[in-house]
Amino acid sequence: MARKWVFVLLVIRDFVSAIAAFLFLKLKGRIHRLTYKSVARPKNVVVVGGSFAGWWLLDTLIKALPTGWRVVLIEKNSHFHFTWLWPRMVGVPGHDHKSIVPYPAKHPQAPEGIYELKRGNAISIEKDAVVLEGGERVPFEYLVIATGSSPRFPTGLNPLSKGEVLKYFGGLQDQIRAAGSIVLVGGGPVGVEIGTDVKSRYPDKSVTIIHSRARLMNNFGTRLHDAGIEACKELNILVYFEERPSFPKGTTHENGSLTLKSGETVKYDLLINCTGQRIDSSLAKQSFPDSIGPDGGIFVNPYLQVLKTPSAKGDATGDAYTNIFAAGDVSSLPASVTGGSSTLKMGRAASLQGMTVATNIVRDIKGQKPKAYKLGNLDRGLKLTLGLNKSIYYLTDGDSELISRQQTKEGKEIKDAQGLPVGDDLNAAHIWSMLAQKPFVDEDDEDKRA
Ligand SMILES: Cc1cc2nc3c(=O)[nH]c(=O)nc-3n(C[C@H](O)[C@H](O)[C@H](O)COP(=O)(O)OP(=O)(O)OC[C@H]3O[C@@H](n4cnc5c(N)ncnc54)[C@H](O)[C@@H]3O)c2cc1C
Repeated sequence: MARKWVFVLLVIRDFVSAIAAFLFLKLKGRIHRLTYKSVARPKNVVVVGGSFAGWWLLDTLIKALPTGWRVVLIEKNSHFHFTWLWPRMVGVPGHDHKSIVPYPAKHPQAPEGIYELKRGNAISIEKDAVVLEGGERVPFEYLVIATGSSPRFPTGLNPLSKGEVLKYFGGLQDQIRAAGSIVLVGGGPVGVEIGTDVKSRYPDKSVTIIHSRARLMNNFGTRLHDAGIEACKELNILVYFEERPSFPKGTTHENGSLTLKSGETVKYDLLINCTGQRIDSSLAKQSFPDSIGPDGGIFVNPYLQVLKTPSAKGDATGDAYTNIFAAGDVSSLPASVTGGSSTLKMGRAASLQGMTVATNIVRDIKGQKPKAYKLGNLDRGLKLTLGLNKSIYYLTDGDSELISRQQTKEGKEIKDAQGLPVGDDLNAAHIWSMLAQKPFVDEDDEDKRA
């Protein structure tokens, strides 16, 4: 019990210091704007990957890089993807456009010349330059690899443009609408969110979750499983545990059946594969083969610098490149940071790692010592939806767990023109404003240009 209250106090402390750090950075950015001068040939900090890690890294650097330096962000997708909304978009129309955020051509908080966004696919890393598909070389003094995970859920989507993402989810929504029985393979947060959303929008459809482990969302603590299973029971979702039936490859399959260990068959109109993501370190494979672990993660030291020679056990004890960093899902953190427990691949942790790397680059430019990344109590926080009117905030330090429940009041549910519930958009507007965009206005909209 005492341990729990210590955790509550630590969460409050981390929350207050996160707000203070945010306000301090904002103020620092205002002062920095008055002092930064654009020069003819600035030195480059090159970041590959403009998602949670890469974007928050850029956002910190534009408020802190000294004159003579700039940041170049290389990203292959046309838009930032707010993936947290994707499970909801599988079964519920109306939110799709909110999850695809345009990158700002000009950032209102950035001084002139401090950053460049380069849309392109980085294909290799040379000693002092990143090479893009098409042959362009982008020279760097510092490089950050923030290439995340791939293929992401849903596996069949290669989301280069906004149009492709919208078309893809529109197709999934049609498949859900047409199916009477739906099987979700994988009882992680994505499977649970899709299942509870679909069943609360379409109570007459049968929804089954098939999970390979003994607990739902087994990468988290038992309280998250308990909340998930309670929601499944309430909504009449059938859950099978410790089952690994074979099923056709791809994100979806129609009109088939699965055979369980007992020999029982589960028929479905639609199967959706909600099993995990894979780390995408393919860009670094050729240049840093010794820095990549069996799961694809790039070994880093506590300062998030890429290790040249990790020990055979994958422990972060080797020498590091002082000017090459990895942040976000792609990084494999040392035990001194994780406390030996497996790290979850999550958006907040990725953003905070990006911000740590930005701080360390600026400190290195100024001749100061780097700061170690600490896995904070908010980094493993999750907002989990459990249907269209219910959600929980979950926090853990790997030992203690905190849960806060939210439920939309009766009569206050958000509904579409057909009177069906659609749920909220998980505060997507916040992400738009973090990217200095007006929610949900996309000037570059393909529909508008057509
Ligand atoms: C469906 C889903 C739901 C999720 N829900 C949550 C949630 O509720 N809460 C939470 O905290 N986390 C959630 N996550 C996890 C979270 O999205 C990831 O942890 C986070 O996106 C990691 O950020 P990242 O910047 O490290 O990598 P990514 O988001 O994977 O981004 C990597 C970026 O690098 C780009 N890139 C890769 N290779 C290249 C290249 N060679 N050249 C140019 N660009 C390249 C990619 O296009 C991409 O934009 C969810 C993930 C998924 C898939």
